[in-house]
Amino acid sequence: MFNSTRIDKFNQLETPFYFYDMNILEQTLNSIQSESSKYGYHIHYAVKANANPKIMQKIQSYGFGADCVSGNEISRSVECGFPASKIVYAGVGKSDKEIKTALETDIFCFNCESIPEMELINELAKQEGKVAKIAIRINPNVNANTHHYITTGIEENKFGINRWEFDSVIENLKTFKNIKLIGLHFHIGSQITDLSVFKGLCLRINEIQEWFKERQIFVDLINVGGGFGVDYENPDENPIPDFTTFFAIFDEFLNLKANQELHFELGRSVVAQCGSVMSRVLYVKNGVNTKFAILDAGMTELLRPALYQAYHKIENVSANGETDKYDVVGPICESSDCFGKSVKLPKTKRNDLIALRTTGAYGEAMASQYNLRNIANAVFSDEIDPA
Ligand SMILES: *Cc1c(COP(=O)(O)O)cnc(C)c1O
Repeated sequence: MFNSTRIDKFNQLETPFYFYDMNILEQTLNSIQSESSKYGYHIHYAVKANANPKIMQKIQSYGFGADCVSGNEISRSVECGFPASKIVYAGVGKSDKEIKTALETDIFCFNCESIPEMELINELAKQEGKVAKIAIRINPNVNANTHHYITTGIEENKFGINRWEFDSVIENLKTFKNIKLIGLHFHIGSQITDLSVFKGLCLRINEIQEWFKERQIFVDLINVGGGFGVDYENPDENPIPDFTTFFAIFDEFLNLKANQELHFELGRSVVAQCGSVMSRVLYVKNGVNTKFAILDAGMTELLRPALYQAYHKIENVSANGETDKYDVVGPICESSDCFGKSVKLPKTKRNDLIALRTTGAYGEAMASQYNLRNIANAVFSDEIDPA
């Protein structure tokens, strides 16, 4: 990832910045494309993972659709070349304005999370003289076995529609003339590395499909969302998630009806490994029992550790040899602004270049200006690597 040519370039740049290895991104996209096309699956990129226009344009060039969770993401997707006919739109709190944006854009499908939301989409579609296509987001009550902040598919969650509400959804849908049910949507959480969870999801969807079949309700598509995890511990050994095994699980365990399409909304697994936050050591400070390596990047550039104790591999790319242990922290006035405790690094000094790995997903996308900091630049390998 960090050869000497790249490091020389980095040393001329102001830190912190987001670095994107476009070769890794392309290899990932090639793998998704070849593995999903074996089964004719439809891929939507979950824009919230990384909405950088250059990243989005690259993803779009592979013919994938977009999965959006706000009106602005819909607009950004269109600007980056995603066809409206491949845009899906989810979210528990879609505003009137956002729904109007989606209707005017003529997106492919709304993933609806409640009856009041369907009522509003129906109403606004009627005003526009349109019929909006919807999928209902079902809460399948499957535990993703991931961090509780990124688990979305169990019953006490704010997301989706629970089983005991199905009857009332069906009754309501009959009266909503400006929406058309075309699919069932599921998304149970993120950073799922235990693949048996997806098998469990498939089996649950099979049961749910039976329930709908008994009521003579047939939908064109199943959307299983995203959530496929990446290897945060070993980014160099496993830069490309195992999409072969991932898609094969759905082929093996999910019973699709004749002509039914299967859609995915992949975010993290597409972009996580291509990105790193590059920063410099400002100071090495001695505490009572610890040494602190204080970086010029903080939770403003990478929120995940502060937000949900996420692990990111930390690398000193300027040094090697004898090691020591450091608490690696950012400059922000919050104790949670910490990237790792007791991290083993080569002896580290002021101005060393530090890489926080696997930050392409939910890194730049979650940047903030807290402490009135500047938003960091993005640097792309194809702009700095020799041709
Ligand atoms: C966040 C999200 C995704 C993408 O999840 P990843 O874990 O990044 O793959 C897909 N669908 C919905 C509805 C989401 O909210």
